[in-house]
Amino acid sequence: MPNLASPGPAAPRKPAILIVDDAPDNVALLRTMMLRQDYQAFVATSGERALEIAQRIKPDLVLLDVVMAGMDGLETCRRVKAHPVTARIPVIFMSARGHTEDIVAGFDIGAVDYITKPLRMEEVCARVRAQLRLNSGSAPQNAQTERLRMIVHSMDQGLLIVERNGRIQYANPACDRCLGYAADELVGRSLADLLVQQDSYPDGCSAMEAIGHGTREVLIRHRDGVLHAMDLTMTPMHANDGLFVALLHDISHHKQSEDALQRAAMLDPLTQIANRRHFGAFLQKEWQRAIRSAQPLSLVVLDVDHFKLYNDTLGHAAGDVCLQKVAHALDAHALRPTDLAARYGGEEFVLLFAETPIDAAARLAEGIRTTVEALQLPNPRSPTSPWITVSVGVATIVPTQLDDIEQLFVCADRAMYAAKAAGRNRVETAVAGAAWEAVRNAAML
Ligand code: GH3
Ligand code: MG
Ligand code: MG
Repeated sequence: MPNLASPGPAAPRKPAILIVDDAPDNVALLRTMMLRQDYQAFVATSGERALEIAQRIKPDLVLLDVVMAGMDGLETCRRVKAHPVTARIPVIFMSARGHTEDIVAGFDIGAVDYITKPLRMEEVCARVRAQLRLNSGSAPQNAQTERLRMIVHSMDQGLLIVERNGRIQYANPACDRCLGYAADELVGRSLADLLVQQDSYPDGCSAMEAIGHGTREVLIRHRDGVLHAMDLTMTPMHANDGLFVALLHDISHHKQSEDALQRAAMLDPLTQIANRRHFGAFLQKEWQRAIRSAQPLSLVVLDVDHFKLYNDTLGHAAGDVCLQKVAHALDAHALRPTDLAARYGGEEFVLLFAETPIDAAARLAEGIRTTVEALQLPNPRSPTSPWITVSVGVATIVPTQLDDIEQLFVCADRAMYAAKAAGRNRVETAVAGAAWEAVRNAAML
């Protein structure tokens, strides 16, 4: 795997050498020599520390003392080779133990060279140089690696390399934008911990198995606490068994525009209250609920009086503003979640009051009428009033399976026209439904 974690796409970086020896004098000497060769030098005086540094900086080569207190060089090398991040880093052993079996043991666990102590510095430098040359690959290979690194570094999408258990090994710079964590803060964390609302994973199923392969939409909590919707694509890396490439694509803004579109589709563009289509769908639901609960459902139909005259006198633009104000006054009366005010068309509005009997609905309608009148929007040529007024029809039904919604509309419309006929700027009521029809038919007999 190319060393994606190195910074850049800048100039080729200096080779990084990790020097591991528990004798500080040796470390200092080797460090000076490596710096003199124009390499970067990192040092560790224990095996444990060496492993930490190796995983973090991924050096190009490790110079490793065999005999050390605590974790010795052989064990350290074994662990370097066992870890996917460091497995491919060449290790050169340094030891005073120059017996063949020691040297063979070193090569057996993955060392690439073995230098016997006391160290001859020219020899160390020559062996390091030779190893770096061997490992540097051909020029086209290097160019390809550099290209890959540039792509990964300049990608807009967050790219992570993740172990089977979800542990993050590498994060590209875009992850900082996506998640709010710098790449080196992400390394070592669990990808599963960043995901919100994960169902608990089934027994024996690793986090990565639960997340699965392919693309799925996930919610990720950004460091600032904001939840982001993202597409997470997990692809196994065949060349590196047990590793996955995870791509994160922030889709929050798509989601937001999707939500905005959905909201816009429900609203009347002029008045910003519900439109006819949304009202229809809402009424359907409330109608079914009223059948189940046998509760009264009240529909208010409202038409602006002499609005043509208003437009003709004050102009169409003023008419638009007037409709917005009337709509606002109306909407202020839809207080419960089961109430809804909508513009039904032109200068006609509707309101639905669920679980509301006729007398309560009539009181609400009267409140709306007086609110509109109190706005004192001048309608100079209206024969009804100097102000904008509305005529209101109210119909109430306790719907049954025998009724249909159209009936309720016909009744409310009829009541509204009755209000117009009776002089406008008033409320008229009607009761609709099979029960009422039965009563009316009986009365006519
Ligand atoms: P009535 O009291 O009988 O209801 O009389 P009216 O003048 O209100 O009724 P009519 O149906 O004759 O006229 C309705 C007017 O509403 C005509 C139309 O131009 C106007 N109108 C409908 N939609 C809009 C709109 O979106 N903006 C404006 N400014 N006017 C509209
Ligand atoms: Mg009208
Ligand atoms: Mg009108």
